[in-house]
Amino acid sequence: MFLEEKENTAEAKEASGKSGGKPQPRRTAQRRTAPKNANAAKGQEQHQENAGGQKAAAPQKSANTQKPKQVPAKSQKDGKSPAKQPSKASKKDGRGKLKIIPLGGLEQIGMNITAFEYEDSIIVVDCGLAFPGDDMLGIDLVIPDVTYLKQNIDKVKGFVITHGHEDHIGALPYILQQVNVPVYGTKLTIALIEHKLEEHKLLKNTKRKVMKHGQSVNLGCFRVEFVKTNHSIQDASALAIFSPAGIVLHTGDFKIDYTPVFGDPIDLQRFAELGKKGVLALLADSTNATRPGFTMSERTVGKTFDAIFAEHTSKRIIVATFASNVDRVQQIVNTAYKYGRKVVVEGRSMVTVIDIASKLGYINIPEGTLIDIEHLKNYPPESTVLITTGSQGESMAALSRMAASIHKKVSIMPGDVVILSSTPIPGNEKAVANVVNELSMKGAEVICQDTHVSGHACQEDLKLIYSLVHPKFAIPVHGEYRHRVAQKELAEFMGVAKDRAVLVNSGDVVALDENSCEVIDHVVSGGILVDGLGVGDVGNIVLRDRQNLAQNGIIVVVLTLEKHSNQLLAGPDIVSRGFVYVRESEDLLEEAHAIVADAVEDCMERGVSDWGKIKNIIKDSLSDFLWKRMKRSPMILPIIMEV
Ligand SMILES: [Zn+2]
Ligand SMILES: [Zn+2]
Repeated sequence: MFLEEKENTAEAKEASGKSGGKPQPRRTAQRRTAPKNANAAKGQEQHQENAGGQKAAAPQKSANTQKPKQVPAKSQKDGKSPAKQPSKASKKDGRGKLKIIPLGGLEQIGMNITAFEYEDSIIVVDCGLAFPGDDMLGIDLVIPDVTYLKQNIDKVKGFVITHGHEDHIGALPYILQQVNVPVYGTKLTIALIEHKLEEHKLLKNTKRKVMKHGQSVNLGCFRVEFVKTNHSIQDASALAIFSPAGIVLHTGDFKIDYTPVFGDPIDLQRFAELGKKGVLALLADSTNATRPGFTMSERTVGKTFDAIFAEHTSKRIIVATFASNVDRVQQIVNTAYKYGRKVVVEGRSMVTVIDIASKLGYINIPEGTLIDIEHLKNYPPESTVLITTGSQGESMAALSRMAASIHKKVSIMPGDVVILSSTPIPGNEKAVANVVNELSMKGAEVICQDTHVSGHACQEDLKLIYSLVHPKFAIPVHGEYRHRVAQKELAEFMGVAKDRAVLVNSGDVVALDENSCEVIDHVVSGGILVDGLGVGDVGNIVLRDRQNLAQNGIIVVVLTLEKHSNQLLAGPDIVSRGFVYVRESEDLLEEAHAIVADAVEDCMERGVSDWGKIKNIIKDSLSDFLWKRMKRSPMILPIIMEV
């Protein structure tokens, strides 16, 4: 989703001192710490606007052969199974129709992936990841379940990618191992994908093709044209999908920027031409569909920077923003140059993106402007600018570490001016507020006003698109349910018939032709959890255990029995973690010990020899006692050793 651009947990991961390219073993500091991060992660999952520097963990080859488990995607929280199996009875014949099958990205936040199928051809638009919810303990990221693509692998012709944000490209390294088909995208998008593939050592095995705006590629019976749009990352594209059933226009994430910082404005002329030809369906970005008015040009932010720099000539300036927003960085660099300041870029994902962007010529940094962070101390503070990650309060990102005085090279000084060039993504407000507080306590002046514009089209922009494209059917995408509803209403307002503006769910098979647009079937959809090197090996049961452990802790009861006589030789001993602080709870633990000892003795006396039974008796008696005494139910793990 899509509210705003955002930084991703890569920041946090990077911050924990892990180096870029190598696959890293799981567990990031970010997730270990508590609510602040949880919030950050929550927001991040909503819209991954960070491009480069994505973490880490390459999936184990063998993991892929495992049967993926379904994840608690949203539908499951509602008590429904996320895996909707095709029901033969209701299955209608979609022959001669275009099938649109969103495999993710509608209920779930992030994880955009949509299949388009016509007879024996399938193309897939985007392949994004989602960040785990607060309840997905220990999970690094969530990737879409592509069972349907695997089942129809012979039909799948390729991935066509709209832009380089994580929620659109992040799952590619995982999915390409299961569905190895060519990937098409514009220059920056492909470069960011290649960076990921390299990290996962998949570059050699993946066919990629760089597409120019205006170019199209034939994939089976489809032709896909890349149409220039604007967004908070460069090289974003809408896709005009020409199928035997008609033209479908997928906007991807987009905004209308008449004066973009880099490159051309959105190709509205092409949108209009397609509209003239006749567009069967429009799948448009709903992220800002609840916001009235127009989205401001990225360039307006540059003016704000100018004003702030002009006002604070005697102070050091630190600007935090999204790593992938190269245009934003360009504008900060421009202003810095104008005011004779040296620029330091800090935060691994940002360094990666800027590196890729400057190699491609997407950012222009005047010679001698960029300096290494090591050289920062050689310049007076008022002639430097730090551009950093961490604008979402991600606890391990550079800005938060500076604020918390744990950054190795930069500490906040009284008088520093810190600009947060972003808006907090819902869920991150608290984390951002914490960082702002910490910065203020250290004497920094924090500026948030007018230093950010959205990368998504608002209502008036959407109206323009509708009036140019004039689609027969409208299928709002990208956005929470409420956003998609807002776009549906807007579509109706713009003349799309009520029954032709349709809301669909992930897993729906939407069959489309000139006359109708209906859901004719359902396929498996949902998320697969990635934890370190494990893909899909953590399912609901493991998650439930983790939640229980996290909430209640664990008590291990150890005893030793003699092999044949079942005599108690040692124990029971009680060890606990995350339950009570042992030193202050000696009485309680002694009582618990007595309860367990009684239970064991009872078993011995009654001649209970089945270890399973003994374990259950221990568990039951101890959990009864703890519940009565503490109103707590830790996980109890009896271990019987045999001598
Ligand atoms: Zn997106
Ligand atoms: Zn995006």
